[in-house]
Amino acid sequence: MRKNRLYLSPPHLNGCELENVKGAFEKNWIAPVGPDIDAFEQDFCTYTGAKHALALSSGTAAIHLALLVSGLKTGDVVFCSTFTFAGSAFPIRYIGAEPVFIDSESESWNIDPEQLRTAIKKELKKGKRLGAVIVVHLYGQSANLNDLKNICDEFNISLIEDSAESLGAYNRTMHTGTIGELGVFSFNGNKIITSSGGGMLVGKDKSKIDMARYLSTQARESLSHYEHTMVGYNYRMSNICAAIGRGQLSVIEKRIRRRRQVYDSYKEKLDGIGGIRFMPRDRFGRGNCWLTCLEDTGEATPECIRLALEKENIESRPLWKPMHLQPVFASATAYCNGTSEKLFKKGLCLPSGTAMTIDDINKVTEIIKEVFRK
Ligand SMILES: *Cc1c(COP(=O)(O)O)cnc(C)c1O
Repeated sequence: MRKNRLYLSPPHLNGCELENVKGAFEKNWIAPVGPDIDAFEQDFCTYTGAKHALALSSGTAAIHLALLVSGLKTGDVVFCSTFTFAGSAFPIRYIGAEPVFIDSESESWNIDPEQLRTAIKKELKKGKRLGAVIVVHLYGQSANLNDLKNICDEFNISLIEDSAESLGAYNRTMHTGTIGELGVFSFNGNKIITSSGGGMLVGKDKSKIDMARYLSTQARESLSHYEHTMVGYNYRMSNICAAIGRGQLSVIEKRIRRRRQVYDSYKEKLDGIGGIRFMPRDRFGRGNCWLTCLEDTGEATPECIRLALEKENIESRPLWKPMHLQPVFASATAYCNGTSEKLFKKGLCLPSGTAMTIDDINKVTEIIKEVFRK
């Protein structure tokens, strides 16, 4: 058994993070304010092509603020991919809106435009107020933004992109996260780059990002004493985290290249064996391949493969359990076609970190092949 556990997607540092952090220490910028935050936001806009950016304490906080500045009211319906991590959907409840979950299309695993259209029409018939649509680009692959945007325009609903997993992924020629009104990114420790925890809200409309900045720093009026006319939040990123994030962002393209190679290597060695099938890639533009996932583990159950890897101290995980199957969202409306439930039952995420070696990948593929030999 391996001494060092092989994790699904651990942080991968390059050295310049520590230099940046040292610089911040030397100048005593150890607060949720400082030059690294401004520079990180700038660098982020330059890299993604986003117009305005706001560095925050987490991706979940960024989604919360995105909903707040979109002018939603209690009871509004917010459509959200059901096949996602709970962080996409929890903020809908924070603001007292009503989550309505939409199933995936099999081509991209992301929100199915036709299901969305059906859901919008049905919710309108029920007399509901339409709030927003949260589109997730799962595992670093773009959703069908062209069709989704047309539907949002047709019904005049704001489109929020949850790009927590898709930094650097494209939809045709544009970065995911920069196409809807607002986009959200995460720098949690398991994402393609990390700031040891953090998030980014981006948008085209400066007034929305300014409003989010104001709300994220306790809604302080610009007066010498503390004056508040709205309820605020303590959601700003710390300058130390921004220093780490800047160092990580400087090598993002290298990291994407490596993630894509990891996908290629797995696929080359395992595709078709015992009926194994891989997740679709690049359907609507270059994916970042944050995680390499099996769509179908074929003749073996995902749990059987997971346990075989676990025995060798290698982490793998089931795909996200759909939100409409989560006890916490049992009362929510969902429009389903069976895709996400099937994926949850038959899929598996493989270790996909960028610091993995060829030997690591060979080890994983050998263990999986062995499961089918038994
Ligand atoms: C990680 C993640 C989030 C939440 O980001 P945090 O920074 O962990 O709060 C939201 N949505 C998706 C799809 C994620 O993968």
